[in-house]
Amino acid sequence: MPHQPNNATSDLDMKNSEVMPDPTVSLAGASAFPADVPSKPSAEGKKILLATPRGYCAGVDRAVDAVEKALDLYGAPVYVRKEIVHNKFVVETLTERGAIFVHDTDDVPEGARVVFSAHGVSPEVHEQAARRQLMTIDATCPLVTKVHKQAVRFADEDFDILLIGHEGHEEVEGTQGEAPDHIQVVNGPEDVATVQVRDPDRVVWISQTTLSVDETMKTVELLRKRFPNLIDPPSDDICYATQNRQGAVKVMAPMADVVIVVGSANSSNSVRLVEVALESGAGAAYRVDKASEVQREWFTGAKTVGVTSGASVPEILVRDVVTVLKDAGFTEVENVATAQEDVRFSLPKNLRADLKATGAEVDRPHKARDKNANISNARANKSI
Ligand code: SF4
Repeated sequence: MPHQPNNATSDLDMKNSEVMPDPTVSLAGASAFPADVPSKPSAEGKKILLATPRGYCAGVDRAVDAVEKALDLYGAPVYVRKEIVHNKFVVETLTERGAIFVHDTDDVPEGARVVFSAHGVSPEVHEQAARRQLMTIDATCPLVTKVHKQAVRFADEDFDILLIGHEGHEEVEGTQGEAPDHIQVVNGPEDVATVQVRDPDRVVWISQTTLSVDETMKTVELLRKRFPNLIDPPSDDICYATQNRQGAVKVMAPMADVVIVVGSANSSNSVRLVEVALESGAGAAYRVDKASEVQREWFTGAKTVGVTSGASVPEILVRDVVTVLKDAGFTEVENVATAQEDVRFSLPKNLRADLKATGAEVDRPHKARDKNANISNARANKSI
């Protein structure tokens, strides 16, 4: 897979083990990384390895910021269709601020304001919202929108479209809704044998943005055996953030007795990070929503614990986990950095316009804001 430019600098004050791959190489496999990764720490020290990049991606940052700014500008309540991003802490914090999370547009009072989540929605949802005269703010990640556009284009050209992704995931539902007559979902390698197409020479694959890169490539390989003329999407569908977080874990995991992934159970990219850690050689890997879920018995006999987080996780939750580990004697923190990210997305157009009209701040990156007033990554500007 071609690799997209990435970056986001860690502001953590700690020892760095910089492992910077050539940003132009593919991140589809462990071979994308140099062999001379940091060696195992000496037996006497207990160490935390902190994967970089981790946590908030540009799409999540934008979506969360859109809800926060909508609350500031229009006042509560602001309705949000589905979880704005798949993270419990984020949803709870926004709820406390006055956001009301609903399952569907029908649950939003007529004429009210509603934010669509980063995962995207189908055209049908837009139509439902228009029928109810809702004022919409579409926080769909631009990288999800890109996949929607691919789907529409290939459907217009009458291709059979194989959407590799998890059936029932909101992003997959949204993408499938763009061309339901042309798209079928392929959950993974196990589904390949049952795929039926009209013309094996007019088949294209696209994918959910947050999948395991390696497993997706396996699925594509099997699909290509069945359909040798299978067409690839014009650019990566698995987004830069997913690739980068998996890439950092691939480097960190072989050095870690245990890996802790901070992220919610319904966060696709967080769950994938646990799988990637185990496949890449971690002794064990656990996912936690928050520090209180970390169990001390996981670290019995462990010398090195790797820590990372999914793309919807605020850095404050990682810091809490690091604090728990420090209390357990893992006092040294080493950064394992494999890429830098500096991707930023503008706020949704209509929200930007309303903010501008009132003279409010719309520029990015955000200025650090009051710790208790928001949950953006601006909270992460202190050292652990
Ligand atoms: S994980 Fe990727 S596709 Fe999803 S919101 Fe983040 S940048 Fe966008």
